[in-house]
Amino acid sequence: MKHTIRDEAVRLSGKSYLWALSYLKPYKGKLALLVIFSLLSVTGETLTPKVIQYIIDHVIPQKNIRLFWTLLAVLVLIHVIMLAAKNVRNILQLTIGELASKDILKALFLHLRRLGFEHYERQPAGETLAMFNTEVTNVSKIYRQYLPDILENFFFVAVSIGIMAGISGWMSLVIIPSFAAYYLFGPYFERKAAHFGRLSGEGRVAFNQKVFEAVSGFREFRAFGAQVWFHRLVRDAHRHWADVYRAGATYSSARGSFRRLTYYAGAVAMILIGVYLVRHEMMTVGGFAAFMLLYLNAMFRLTLLVTLFVEQRLILHQTEPLYKFMHQEIHIREPEHPVRLEKVEGRITFDNVSFGYRDRPGVIRNFSLDIRPGEKVAFVGFSGSGKTTLMKLIGRFYDPDEGEIRLDGIPIRSLALADLRNAIGYVFQETYLFGSSVKENIRFGKPDATDEEIIEAAKAAYAHEFIMELPDGYDTIVGERGIKLSGGQRQRISIARMIIKQPAVVLLDEATSALDNKSEWEVQRALDNVLEGRTVIAIAHRLSTVKHFDRIVFVKDGQIAEIGSYDELIARRGLLYELERGEESA
Ligand code: ADP
Repeated sequence: MKHTIRDEAVRLSGKSYLWALSYLKPYKGKLALLVIFSLLSVTGETLTPKVIQYIIDHVIPQKNIRLFWTLLAVLVLIHVIMLAAKNVRNILQLTIGELASKDILKALFLHLRRLGFEHYERQPAGETLAMFNTEVTNVSKIYRQYLPDILENFFFVAVSIGIMAGISGWMSLVIIPSFAAYYLFGPYFERKAAHFGRLSGEGRVAFNQKVFEAVSGFREFRAFGAQVWFHRLVRDAHRHWADVYRAGATYSSARGSFRRLTYYAGAVAMILIGVYLVRHEMMTVGGFAAFMLLYLNAMFRLTLLVTLFVEQRLILHQTEPLYKFMHQEIHIREPEHPVRLEKVEGRITFDNVSFGYRDRPGVIRNFSLDIRPGEKVAFVGFSGSGKTTLMKLIGRFYDPDEGEIRLDGIPIRSLALADLRNAIGYVFQETYLFGSSVKENIRFGKPDATDEEIIEAAKAAYAHEFIMELPDGYDTIVGERGIKLSGGQRQRISIARMIIKQPAVVLLDEATSALDNKSEWEVQRALDNVLEGRTVIAIAHRLSTVKHFDRIVFVKDGQIAEIGSYDELIARRGLLYELERGEESA
């Protein structure tokens, strides 16, 4: 069992690696240049020992000063070329990393938009944001660091071994046991170091989080006299972080020692063999010196390759959430040939609609309802009966499992999503204001609206007066960091947003239930202005606000339990009557 889970992980890592690499496709040309310049710089580096060999073998015995200067000039030239190549290579590495990371971020946002509502409901925005932040940084490390470094070190090792084999085939064989010794135990230290490295990263985040909570929750802690308790939490978080950090540092230092140990052991073997070969004139002194220089460098790089591979594996493992996110199926698709909506009348038809969430089937069952243009319909019912779900289906945040919903007789699946959403306005219980000016927050409903239109809309929403009293009027910044508005004021801004959009259909989600009496009255007044002449579908807990609606639909277990005007239903003494009585006695 354990085996298959591991296999699965390896398969996924492989897939997410290919996926990550696919973002390099547009930069194939640059990548090829990177390879060429890496090779160039590596060749320069590996040629240096060859020059030294020549100096030892030919210049020194012959005391040839002219040759010496020539070789020195060659050496300088090689290094100039090498440095230039290395710089170009570094710039290429940076550029490719930058471009590919940008592409991946763009792709993520596009996908997020296509996934739409279902994703937002299932995964909190904070989590998505954190994933974008940390995982994108992780993936881009593959482009910025791992891939280019692996290539370069690989070239170095390959070229060095080639030259070494040219000097002495026999001595080159020592690399095998020396590297094997590292490969046998090195990855153990690598994995431990990488593991604790990651834990210490997480530990730091957790510690920061605790500090953040301590600062932002200061008032609550004091009110509850819980400072001591919380202080302990912060201290524990710090201790944990320090512990894993220390473990990580210990393992990575052990890794370094072990790395050196293996190749110095190899070096000792080589010196023994080398001395023998030189004595028997099977190798020159210069050859021996060049060989040793190459060997030490190549071994260092060979073991570095192991480090890079292990670290990259770990990063790949962490990018899996991103990979899975990108491969999440998109449920709501744009029609290929959308039917254009010219003028929207606002007829909404549910035709035998059934729907359930992935983990909760049967929320809406065989729901049929025809809402005339301009009709006002209220959904009433107990919590969890499916009222909000019906609204989400109208906005096509989800598609029904069976049956269809039509707008003006056209299945909403056949409409362009933008057309559908333009035809519908929403007022939610909670209004979201962007961290921008009041003006921009209203313009949100219609991006090309003029300032006059905005003021017009604000007046109709009874928002103009309070907006003018704000410090900067329409330019006052609201939202998280801006000025705080009351619930009623926020809602009137959202109503202005809707007025400017002029939707044929308005969906109200318990718009006024969170407000006090005065605000409710103001919002109600604003709503009356907007709702005139539009199709309105409202969810209401308080029956007082929907008494005058044309029809009231009592939804129970995703079905219509009662339907009719308020007076009809009360007269019938059914569910609505019971609900009304319950409200009165409450
Ligand atoms: P109402 O608006 O009448 O209170 P909802 O339409 O919000 O009811 O919910 C109907 C049922 O569907 C409830 O049982 C609720 O728990 C469930 N539900 C709502 N949203 C989701 C979701 N995103 N995923 C799974 N189940 C959901």
